[in-house]
Amino acid sequence: MVEKKLKKIPQRKCISCGLKKDKNNLLRIVRNDCGISLDLSGKMNGRGAYICKDSKCINDAIKKNKLSNILKTDIPNSLLEEIKLYVLDG
Ligand SMILES: [Zn+2]
Repeated sequence: MVEKKLKKIPQRKCISCGLKKDKNNLLRIVRNDCGISLDLSGKMNGRGAYICKDSKCINDAIKKNKLSNILKTDIPNSLLEEIKLYVLDG
């Protein structure tokens, strides 16, 4: 018998809806020495927050300031726009 091993995708929790999802299905926003950025590679150093690639989750998180609460800093409007655009496109 050959045992098929599926590659395990790490699970992360969305800061907005609280559901655990595959890392692939979440956006990562990172705070580090350079500031706050959208981490599309998933490999940036720093404190990260994950959020569903879902306009509802993202709008909710923005409305309730969840990103700034979790990352303990203000989120620049430019980054919020970037996040929104990413969701609209994707
Ligand atoms: Zn979510």
